[in-house]
Amino acid sequence: MSRDIKALISQMTLEEKAGMCSGLDFWHLKGVERLGIPSIMVTDGPHGLRKQKQGADHLGLFDSVPATCFPSAAGLASSWNRDLVTKVGVALGEECQAEDVAVILGPGANIKRSPLCGRNFEYFSEDPYLSSEMAASHINGVQSQGVGTSLKHFAVNNQEDRRMSVDAIVDERTLREIYLASFEGAVKKAQPWTVMCSYNRVNGPYASEDPYLLTDILKEEWGHEGFVVSDWGAVNERADGLNAGLELEMPSSNGIGDAKIVAAVKSGKLSEERVDAAVERLLRIIFMAVDNKKENASYDIEAHHQFAREVATESMVLLKNETNILPLSKDAKISVIGAFAQTPRYQGGGSSHIKPTKLDNILEEIKNVAGESAQIQFANGYNLANDDIDETLVTEARAIAQNSDVTVLFIGLPDRYESEGYDRAHLRIPLNQQHIIDALAEVQDNIVVVLSNGAPIEMPWLGKVKGVIEGYLAGQAIGGAIADLLFGEANPSGKLAETFPVALEHNPSYLNFPGEGDKVEYKEGLFVGYRYYDKKNLAPLFPFGFGLSYTKFEYTNIQVDKTTLKDTETVKVTVTVKNIGKVAGKEIVQLYVRDVKSTMIRPEKELKGFEKIELQPGEEKRVSFELDKRAFAYYNVDMKDWHVEGGEFDILVGKSSVGIELKQTITVEQTVFVKKTYHRNSTIGDLMSDSSVAPLVNEFFTKIKESSPLFSSVDEDAEGAEMMAAMMKFMPLRALVSFSGGSFTEEHLAGFLARVNGQGVFQ
Ligand code: BGC
Repeated sequence: MSRDIKALISQMTLEEKAGMCSGLDFWHLKGVERLGIPSIMVTDGPHGLRKQKQGADHLGLFDSVPATCFPSAAGLASSWNRDLVTKVGVALGEECQAEDVAVILGPGANIKRSPLCGRNFEYFSEDPYLSSEMAASHINGVQSQGVGTSLKHFAVNNQEDRRMSVDAIVDERTLREIYLASFEGAVKKAQPWTVMCSYNRVNGPYASEDPYLLTDILKEEWGHEGFVVSDWGAVNERADGLNAGLELEMPSSNGIGDAKIVAAVKSGKLSEERVDAAVERLLRIIFMAVDNKKENASYDIEAHHQFAREVATESMVLLKNETNILPLSKDAKISVIGAFAQTPRYQGGGSSHIKPTKLDNILEEIKNVAGESAQIQFANGYNLANDDIDETLVTEARAIAQNSDVTVLFIGLPDRYESEGYDRAHLRIPLNQQHIIDALAEVQDNIVVVLSNGAPIEMPWLGKVKGVIEGYLAGQAIGGAIADLLFGEANPSGKLAETFPVALEHNPSYLNFPGEGDKVEYKEGLFVGYRYYDKKNLAPLFPFGFGLSYTKFEYTNIQVDKTTLKDTETVKVTVTVKNIGKVAGKEIVQLYVRDVKSTMIRPEKELKGFEKIELQPGEEKRVSFELDKRAFAYYNVDMKDWHVEGGEFDILVGKSSVGIELKQTITVEQTVFVKKTYHRNSTIGDLMSDSSVAPLVNEFFTKIKESSPLFSSVDEDAEGAEMMAAMMKFMPLRALVSFSGGSFTEEHLAGFLARVNGQGVFQ
């Protein structure tokens, strides 16, 4: 329905307008009855709906209505499956419609800087491209149902420690290339109805009152059309926030924020046009929700549960499969060990914690899939409530393990180990779980570990087991999914969206996480996740992009539609992938780009494309990618823009960040040049490496040599000339004045610089 929103605003009092800029209560926006503006509901998210019946909190403490619990983002991203994530969004949207929820709060697109972050289970990846693609798919799915999303937590919220006060200090290039890029793609591709600003400060100001983030970048540069909502309680100074581009304060401030807005307008600190612009953005979304509301909507609980099983299956990652221990034979004598098999850990703690419509018992699902004749025994092995070793449980578990062909051991992180609100202190599993592995390994060679955890753990025990399935926090259909994978009803097809380090200390943020007091410096810069391990040539436990399958894939025949292009053009890359194994499977084909030679510090390679394809045994498919300027560019902080430094780039296609199978080198020509100005402290080397001024410099040196005894004596032989050139490389121009024995004066230098700069020097 078309409405004249501006006309509506003109009928509102200043108080009514200010009132629109904060919540009615914990989960509702205000309406204005006399003008027909309704109050809409927003609620958590992101991998299921948390609509509270009574009581309101932002840490998931109170009960909520039942909703389907899908795998959390860590798992979803491991599927690398855009369509699947979109379908999850569709299902979430349907549930929101059924529950009369206008906006679901999520997805989260923060980068996994450290594996310690307590909220990593809610985030997609350490890589901004993968993260933004997943977030965009999620948003598109939800919003296709006429329900809004809230892309969160904008920005640089990569730890829970002091999350409401910490100042994240990150250099501009890293901010753009890593932390903001993850949001940028999602905003541009999916236009989330709302964006939630984070609690923390970013390079000084609170994210909730930073015009650079909320207006310059989000609204103006990226073109976000919706509104910005504060994370719950993230507002510092309300009027400053509004001025910076924060339209909605949540939850209700009980009139405090509204009064501050009114006072700021009256005192002239805040313009009324600013308030009007904020209300206009709010009303646009409110009416979008109203116009898209589906009356009497409902959803099929069982169908959503079945879908959650499919999603969980694609989200799990087979990390180890020695001697092809998996899939298991249904006739094998199987000991299932671990408290998680009966009390699954399937979601994380905090605001995303939902009440599932139903919940699989993993052991039961294993029995269901294995069938009647299966011989399955179970033992707890350890307690979940604490880390203490219980020898009775250990003895019982050893007895059944000894008496079986294979042990399937369920371990991971208990709830108390990771949650919103605090970070982990280490990457270890509880002592009693570590102990049970050691104890079982003494009596059983065939151990398959199934992990439930939201983020990486260290695995010093890896050599004692033959199989590892990373299950992440797989949602309510965890049991069915695991059973399907264990017995080969489904073929594992997930790959890691993050690096698993051998030890916590190897993680690039280790020296600066979580910072000192209220300040955390992102000193590792661009080198987050695989960008660091690649550059340092440091082998991780499991690399980014890694995951096994019950089949094998062969990569051949890389082709590009051009080997030279301008940075304004695109290039199409095509490869052939064939299933050379005996069972059907899905492969995630990854494309990375390497800048062969650069004057900038750049990662070894960066993910710029991926496709997930399904192949029957013997089947092959051509997989295509299209790369544009952004695939080759870095963020140039002087130009305040993405910039390509022309030259050669390697296109690398493969199975993981360390499993590159195919390479093709292309040349990209830059069309934008950075004007460079040289000065008396510019080095001779810099001038010499600039092709547009090098001839001038050479001409100039010829002259100097003629007149200066120092410079003319050295290059008699080739070796001397080479040494001289190497030494002079880092010499500033001004040094020529002092070394030339008076033949080269300050006046000569000034004249030379005028000539060089007058040329219009380019890089
Ligand atoms: C969380 C958000 C959440 C909000 C509402 C905050 O504490 O950081 O992610 O959406 O609470 O529950």
